[in-house]
Amino acid sequence: RLDLDLLARAYRMSAEAHRGQKRLSGDEFVSHSVSVATILVDQQMDTTTVAAALLHDVVEDSQVTVDDIRREFGGEVADLVDGLTKIASLTFRSTEEEQAENYRKLLLSIARDARVIIIKLADRLHNMRTIEFLPPEKQRRIALETREIYAPLAHRFGMAGVKAELEDLAFKVLEPDDCAALVRQVRAKQEEREQTIERLAGPLAEELTRAGITGFDITGRPKNLWSIYRKMKMREKPFEEIYDVIAFRVIVDNVGQCYETLGHIHALWRPVPGRFKDYIAIPKSNMYQ
Ligand code: MN
Repeated sequence: RLDLDLLARAYRMSAEAHRGQKRLSGDEFVSHSVSVATILVDQQMDTTTVAAALLHDVVEDSQVTVDDIRREFGGEVADLVDGLTKIASLTFRSTEEEQAENYRKLLLSIARDARVIIIKLADRLHNMRTIEFLPPEKQRRIALETREIYAPLAHRFGMAGVKAELEDLAFKVLEPDDCAALVRQVRAKQEEREQTIERLAGPLAEELTRAGITGFDITGRPKNLWSIYRKMKMREKPFEEIYDVIAFRVIVDNVGQCYETLGHIHALWRPVPGRFKDYIAIPKSNMYQ
């Protein structure tokens, strides 16, 4: 799917440009570019985006110019790197929601191409994964910016997994004690959770098979830590009383089967009044459907 020859050339230019530069972790700098590119490959992004990710810090941190990249890789890759270089110098220092929204708008307007933001999100994700090597004050500033700006952007771009991981990494930095306590609580309930998933999946699978629905897949997963924590705070309830700690998912082949499956679920377990949402008929504002 990807143009591996072009990516190899982008890697070589990046490794050459960053030669001798180290991350605070002690790793070669280019390993960061490779990690960012790898995150984007996992997100099924295109060759242009992955190449730009390999080169995303080159203009900022070396003698290589946007024109060099344009000559070597064309205008599209060059424009993406240019956009990333421009937003690299912006810093956000506020916890006001309105300020955060203005800042997100500013980012989007400078970026122009949505792929700039997507690369920036992957860059931030890798920086958050390796944040322990930064001094504490800087950790807090970056974690706050991640929570206020980048996690909501990831949500808006429909990148649920990236959003959840960014939130949990920021949680670990900003409320370390609460985070550690919640990790312990979630772990302690793990077996119970797995039993619950089994207890629900069994009868549902039987019911669906009886109804002639085939090829379905039922999975349950714990929600991310930050979303559990936020609910505890919002509802002023302890962990034990947060009921939607598990997300339960049934994947079927088409929309018709989706509603049919829902019918069987509602026949087995009564829905909670006022808590049911149909995101097929009414997609979320980020177009999640
Ligand atoms: Mn970077």
